[in-house]
Amino acid sequence: MSKQTVLITGGAGFIGSHLCKKLLNNGYKVICLDNFITGRRDNLAPFAKDSNFQLEICNVFGYIDIPGKIDYVLHSASLPSPKDYLNFPIQTLKVGSLGTHNALGVAKKKKAVFMLFSTSEVYGDPLEHPQKENYWGHVNPVGLRGCYDESKRFAEAITMAYHRVHKLNTKIARIFNTYGPGMRHNDGRVVPNFINQALTGRALTVYGNGRQTRSFCYIDDVVEGVLRLMLSKENFPVNLGNPNEFTMLQLVKLIIKLTGSKSRIVFKGLPQDDPRQRQPDIAKAKRLLGWKPAVSLEDGLKRTISWFRG
Ligand code: UDP
Repeated sequence: MSKQTVLITGGAGFIGSHLCKKLLNNGYKVICLDNFITGRRDNLAPFAKDSNFQLEICNVFGYIDIPGKIDYVLHSASLPSPKDYLNFPIQTLKVGSLGTHNALGVAKKKKAVFMLFSTSEVYGDPLEHPQKENYWGHVNPVGLRGCYDESKRFAEAITMAYHRVHKLNTKIARIFNTYGPGMRHNDGRVVPNFINQALTGRALTVYGNGRQTRSFCYIDDVVEGVLRLMLSKENFPVNLGNPNEFTMLQLVKLIIKLTGSKSRIVFKGLPQDDPRQRQPDIAKAKRLLGWKPAVSLEDGLKRTISWFRG
């Protein structure tokens, strides 16, 4: 039997490239699309020469033309770091809106299963805690984060429209804060920032008073959840994240301890609309996918720190 083919947009990105590797290991053919705005060729190096791997350099907000059979379209292209979407707000909106529309068009033409990589940002600065999939969110459409949050909310809406109108078999993964090897050193998100600062002896920058919370999930756990969702029957959104919640002060202290850094901590202004708390309710993923994260924050950070050292 011929191998199943997975098209993954943003395949050279942090989550995308881990997924390419896992899919190749699991016997799929992988076609990776990326425009390298934030994706990195280095992420592809371990499998770039694999005969089952194909790279296409393109913008997904332009027409996507890929010949041949495709069984799954995974739309992971995105600019999820606040630093990046503040620098590229229009590209962020285009990849979430036009890019999602084009990726859905490919899935429809190829009769493929479609998966949207959505985000906990659809919940905004949440008034319900922890966040269940049936919470509608609390988002400022005209604030600085609006370009990312609203593009993903639009992406979810158009994904459901394709499901309802064209009967496409669609999946929506709402992915919470994810970290691990392969993140860019200058990514700007909190885990790479703190690790980089700790390893280079610079002050660790805590934004606001550091009491805001996030729940960090190790990359291998997220990739496993994505694969299970891809193969599941569910069409409505599913949270994928680690429910263990930490303040940024707890995180900064843990990273200082694990790196043995002598760096000090400095406090900087809190970015506009920075969510005060975030914790996934993963009961649905447990029930439908038999999935829950296996890697603790401490273990995941140790692996990430050793990669950053390398
Ligand atoms: N943050 C911080 N110092 C940094 C980078 C981020 O204190 O150097 C905070 C940020 O204000 C937010 C949290 O860490 O409260 C997570 O930020 P990140 O950019 O990783 O992603 P977000 O979850 O906000 O999308």
